[in-house]
Amino acid sequence: MLSSKQIPGIVSGQDCDSYAWFSQRAWIEIDLAALSHNVRQLVGLLSARTQLMAVVKADAYGHGAVAVAQTALESGASWLGVATIPEGIQLREAGIQAPILILGATHTAEQIQAIAHWQLQPTVCSPKQALVFSNTLEAMNERSPLAVHIKLDTGMSRLGTNWQQAGEFVKLVQSLPHLQIASIYSHLATADSPDTTVMEEQHRRFEEAIAQIQAMGIKTPCLHLANSAATLANSSLHYDIVRVGLAVYGLYPSPHLQATIKLKPVLQVKARVTQVKTIAAGTGVSYGHQFIAPQELRLAVVGIGYADGVPRHLSNNMQVMIRGQRVPQIGTITMDQLMVDVSAIEDIQEGEIVTLLGEQGKEKISADEWAEKLNTISWEILCGFKHRLPRVAMM
Ligand SMILES: *Cc1c(COP(=O)(O)O)cnc(C)c1O
Repeated sequence: MLSSKQIPGIVSGQDCDSYAWFSQRAWIEIDLAALSHNVRQLVGLLSARTQLMAVVKADAYGHGAVAVAQTALESGASWLGVATIPEGIQLREAGIQAPILILGATHTAEQIQAIAHWQLQPTVCSPKQALVFSNTLEAMNERSPLAVHIKLDTGMSRLGTNWQQAGEFVKLVQSLPHLQIASIYSHLATADSPDTTVMEEQHRRFEEAIAQIQAMGIKTPCLHLANSAATLANSSLHYDIVRVGLAVYGLYPSPHLQATIKLKPVLQVKARVTQVKTIAAGTGVSYGHQFIAPQELRLAVVGIGYADGVPRHLSNNMQVMIRGQRVPQIGTITMDQLMVDVSAIEDIQEGEIVTLLGEQGKEKISADEWAEKLNTISWEILCGFKHRLPRVAMM
């Protein structure tokens, strides 16, 4: 058995040398030094006014929320962002005390009780929701007001009150004794696009909403607008907090934003060769025989499949790295295993390590490479890895 040391849900890199470690067929390595580097680089982009919120929703984009949150906080982040209450509770249970913003919507009395109990900070998206919060806290006899974050919709058309109604909305929340406005924020829809027209319009609307609030004599609290892309693209979008997810994990939201800072990918996906054999010309490989060997070839079976998060749509259309070389994956990817053609490399042994995402010698395969083949985004690739892959922290 792998032992999980201090960090829940993540295995210490020291276990790599133990026999138990070698029995793993597939795993994810988390380079916490790279994560720390990325956070420091991001903090370096910010003025003294601006704090960094590390967005660790969806188990830190598949990287393991607790270890990522702890490392990010040690490296200069001061806020954490999660999507749901259980994600916030997981961090509190691990002893993390930093302020935690819940980016998603919460509504029920049970949720509000949990938020108050665990000292999480909810997003309030509408006047109706603000009143539910207020009434629930009243019924709970809560003495100290709950810090809440007001969400404005400036053009994402997701959560939030439309920016034109910002003044009235903020005035209402301010009048509720059980709520204390900790920040006012909005989210950008197109910050990763080289065409900044829509982003600039959202920026203008956010400014207009702030002006509206100030005109009502309300002192504006902390403000925030930027995700990773906006943080990299334009410092006039930084305000008091930037909410950074993807860049913390070492990926760029778009190729045109790569010039700003040097980020290092944090996650690597690895698996072992479980069998090696020669197949004759004309032999079909895997379900449906979607690959037929054009000549005799050396085939290696690798112990990872779509139930681990390797998208089946990559079948016959991806490469993996062995001994620093790229080799083609062949045949349909199956639930727990996939096959690769290792004819180009002498004498591959069972037990050798295959890197699916990451670096081997001079070769590199990134989540962006998969995302492009799959016509999706790297965010989805990262959160697609399943929990049966142990996350191993490399310190
Ligand atoms: C997920 C999320 C972020 C982080 O986005 P990245 O593009 O990964 O930096 C920021 N703000 C909100 C509201 C989010 O939902």
